[in-house]
Amino acid sequence: CSDQVLRVKANSEEEINKLQLLETLEHLQLDFWLRPSNPALPVDIRVPFPSLQAVKVFLESHHIEYSILLEDLQVDKKKQEMVNNQRRERGTSNFNYGAYHPLETIYAALDDLAAEYPSLVSKQKIGESYEKRPMYVLKFSTGGTNRPAIWLDAGIHSREWITQATALWTAKKIASEYGNNPSVTSLLNRMDIFLLVVTNPDGFAFTHTNNRMWRKTRSKNSGSLCIGVDPNRNWDAGFGGPGASTNPCSDSYHGPSANSEVEVKNVVNFIKSHGNIKAFLTLHSYSQLLLFPFGYKCTNPADYKELVRYTAASALASLYGTTYKVGTICSTIYQASGGSIDWSYDYGIKYSFAFELRDTGRYGFLLPATQIIPTAEETWLGLLKIMEHVRDNQ
Ligand SMILES: [Zn+2]
Repeated sequence: CSDQVLRVKANSEEEINKLQLLETLEHLQLDFWLRPSNPALPVDIRVPFPSLQAVKVFLESHHIEYSILLEDLQVDKKKQEMVNNQRRERGTSNFNYGAYHPLETIYAALDDLAAEYPSLVSKQKIGESYEKRPMYVLKFSTGGTNRPAIWLDAGIHSREWITQATALWTAKKIASEYGNNPSVTSLLNRMDIFLLVVTNPDGFAFTHTNNRMWRKTRSKNSGSLCIGVDPNRNWDAGFGGPGASTNPCSDSYHGPSANSEVEVKNVVNFIKSHGNIKAFLTLHSYSQLLLFPFGYKCTNPADYKELVRYTAASALASLYGTTYKVGTICSTIYQASGGSIDWSYDYGIKYSFAFELRDTGRYGFLLPATQIIPTAEETWLGLLKIMEHVRDNQ
């Protein structure tokens, strides 16, 4: 009696509309991993066991094609795998980057990195989450004052565990490549990198303790029993427009106002007070996409720099053949307002990109730990391409 994830193939706008109707049926408690948008993209729905029959009848009665993507979704089994994967060694040289770790372990790893590379890496607190957890960025810097910088964050959606794991591996990679890899060395001789591994610490802690599928923040909503805001609908960019929900119970609820979520506000404050950020990169999962503005509107941005986008995707693919689609948020997935890279772009940060990491739905958010390092390695090649371009074209 476990949940299943169904992959639905809508073959027309009409079928998309039917699926959007299904999305509004709250009593079914459906969890849309990939929401209905356009017929070119699959729709993945985690269906709680008690709703399975009803959903299958709904789809069949409307002649909508579907298959079972994950037959037997047992999140608890994954939890055991995680525990088994963890090693207790301290220090980053024997840290197990190929495992999913809880917040405390990740935070300890940040300290270890700063201790291991004291002349390059430092830890900076940029504020606290709603539940008063500290938010730390790692700063990679070889000196100078307020050098131009690259921002990279992960885990704004807490259930996207491959992103925090990839970011942590990336931190170690940046630190260990400086002085060894000429490209990274020349980058860090001119620019700083700021890396926020866990953008939504409350949500992340909750995915470990209560609900592996939690996506939002953990703030209270006045007038509702439902908790949390989708922090990637909460930025001041087309706030409250299409592709965000007004319903506090929805997984894409935009919140009462732009920047209402302190986690978002902390990042905004940091970026603004720094004043010299040249690239804003953010990690999500899943779908294998390299996205750029806009999401809140369906026009292409003025700086339509094709080169860097496509070279980044092909660099990424060069390692394991993992293919990414490249495009604007609106043209590639759907119109979605209040997203971080739209805000950063409108704020003046030309190189604003979102990565949707592995996979394309075989495991979805429950990507096995064996894929962490391969994912991080290939993503690094894409990130580095963008960073090199920023270094040479700031
Ligand atoms: Zn996401």
